[in-house]
Amino acid sequence: MMQKVVHHKGGQNMKAKRKIVTTYICKTCKTAYSSKKACEACEKLPVEAAVAKVGDKVTILEQRECLMSNKHYIARGVISGVSGALPPDTEYELKWLGGRPDRLNTHVRSYGVAYKCPRCGEKREHFVFAPEFVVQKNGSAKKSEKNHATGIKH
Ligand SMILES: [Zn+2]
Ligand SMILES: [Zn+2]
Repeated sequence: MMQKVVHHKGGQNMKAKRKIVTTYICKTCKTAYSSKKACEACEKLPVEAAVAKVGDKVTILEQRECLMSNKHYIARGVISGVSGALPPDTEYELKWLGGRPDRLNTHVRSYGVAYKCPRCGEKREHFVFAPEFVVQKNGSAKKSEKNHATGIKH
């Protein structure tokens, strides 16, 4: 089950009585909790299924701002990395899901998107949650449907 870590706060030479703090670590997201109950609650949460994999072409939905030209643009790039399970993210839930109760309290994933700024050509990487981007479909909708049906990627 969960990993129990005992920290000894304060150095050996401290006059004050050393405080022993027990930390409980969620085995899914590695978040440290001071309460066993909170840790157990986190471990019970499901993990969001990955919606994209490294190399997938994606478009970030929210406009990015080019710091060189002060202009906004739509970033298109490729997934550079997919995180493991992360603890439920309040901003994610509220901003992107409107706090919908059916999606609350789930371990989430973060996706790195590597792209080139279309304004100044700078190579950038931005980390987003699943609702913040769409996977680009190649060719027509018909073609991608066919590819999907036969299991052929791209
Ligand atoms: Zn967790
Ligand atoms: Zn730029």
